[in-house]
Amino acid sequence: MKVAIFGAGVAGLSAAIELVDRGYDVEIYEKRKVLGGKVSVWKDKDGDSVESGLHIVFGGYEQLQNYLDRVGAGNNYIWKDHSLIYAEPDGKQSFFKKANLPSPWAEVIGGLQADFLTMWDKISLIKGLFPALAGNEEYFRSQDHMTYSEWHRLRGASEHSLQKLWRAIALAMNFIEPNVISARPMITIFKYFGTDYHATKFAFFRQNPGDSMIEPMRQYIQAKGGRIFIDAKLSRFELDENSTIKKAILTDGHEVTADAYISAMPVHNLKKILPKEWLHHDYFTNIFQFTGSPVANCQLWFDKKITDTDNLMFSQGTIFATFADVSLTCPEDFQEGMGSAAGGSVMSLVLAPAHQLMDMPNEAIIDLVMKDIHDRFPKSRHAKLLKSTLVKIPESVYKAVPDVDKFRPDQVSPIDNFYLAGDYTYQRYLASMEGAALSGKQVAEKLHARMAK
Ligand SMILES: Cc1cc2nc3c(=O)[nH]c(=O)nc-3n(C[C@H](O)[C@H](O)[C@H](O)COP(=O)(O)OP(=O)(O)OC[C@H]3O[C@@H](n4cnc5c(N)ncnc54)[C@H](O)[C@@H]3O)c2cc1C
Repeated sequence: MKVAIFGAGVAGLSAAIELVDRGYDVEIYEKRKVLGGKVSVWKDKDGDSVESGLHIVFGGYEQLQNYLDRVGAGNNYIWKDHSLIYAEPDGKQSFFKKANLPSPWAEVIGGLQADFLTMWDKISLIKGLFPALAGNEEYFRSQDHMTYSEWHRLRGASEHSLQKLWRAIALAMNFIEPNVISARPMITIFKYFGTDYHATKFAFFRQNPGDSMIEPMRQYIQAKGGRIFIDAKLSRFELDENSTIKKAILTDGHEVTADAYISAMPVHNLKKILPKEWLHHDYFTNIFQFTGSPVANCQLWFDKKITDTDNLMFSQGTIFATFADVSLTCPEDFQEGMGSAAGGSVMSLVLAPAHQLMDMPNEAIIDLVMKDIHDRFPKSRHAKLLKSTLVKIPESVYKAVPDVDKFRPDQVSPIDNFYLAGDYTYQRYLASMEGAALSGKQVAEKLHARMAK
């Protein structure tokens, strides 16, 4: 049985791992020259790694960790200290450090000790957010009609905690503000955060997500007979009279035939190739409810260390939302002596919200980033900026705004030989590497079950 997969992000590669393990003949077609999609990494002219985005593995990412183990990359990531670190003006830091106790005491005691929350923030948070802690999936779904800000205020939780704690989490999760994101994903995360001690641990890849995860996945798939084609962009499907796919046509005219076809492309690319003959199915018209969040990732190379924090950091009131000095967090890539880092800091910063940045010249954006870097990392005022990179992604993960969750499609489509994988398809996680990995597992299992009939 031959399966053609379009898109070599985490979803497409995960589906391929499952399918080659089940003995399928798998071909992956990726439009870019580099694999990994939003997790892709490439080298610049100095040999330094440029990331599409700073990527963190969470303790709760069971499926992704399973794939990393399976492809021999189980030791390719390193757990960091279990705390949320906020970079404050003038080099100060504040912390939400989980206490070394079982949940929810780890979070309650840790929260009570958090120095950036007032006593009223803490009391109103414990009281106001209790329904999320006690809630189940059904409750979370029922709250999808409102934004997180609305939910937070209805629950009487403090305005200061909304701006200080939850805004950073909304921007880190979906690159949008708490008054835009749906309450549903936020309170789901709160439940994880408050009830599972290990779910919120952070890990960084030892090198970078490309070398530490995507490359071992590629090797595994090819070692099991899978074939991967790069620079191979799907253009359209040609259909049979019963609307199933007869063949896929790439932009260079190459034709692909298979027993089943999986789109593992992002939702905005999928919209472009959906045949009009399929658009009478709600399943496909619902896809048009999704739009992508704009985001940008900026990397700055300094000649000196500007921080000694070996962990993820958050900040409020800056152009960047989450960031890290990857020369410390990813010691086997950005370490001393490699590329132009040469012992200095390499800051990798996720810029969000980013809608206003998409049309702004890169130099103007870097100026804004540097202003905030000088404010949060005073040592940078005496360091030389060696170089910078900026990757803009106008449509990244789908915007988890109110009332959109119900449109997330199942991996099995109404067309007999067509399936979907991708972080936006229905699985229990939000758009993330774990969501993409789960979608890959689910599409392979469902395809296998349908084929076996
Ligand atoms: C800045 C940033 C930071 C992030 N940080 C984190 C994090 O810390 N932790 C986390 O878990 N997640 C994070 N994410 C989210 C995570 O990267 C995504 O949810 C996940 O990688 C999506 O995987 P995917 O396979 O569904 O889609 P994608 O990664 O988008 O892969 C889709 C692939 O399809 C290809 N494609 C598109 N059109 C065609 C075509 N016509 N023909 C062939 N191929 C095509 C694309 O080139 C791409 O390679 C972050 C995302 C960004 C942008």
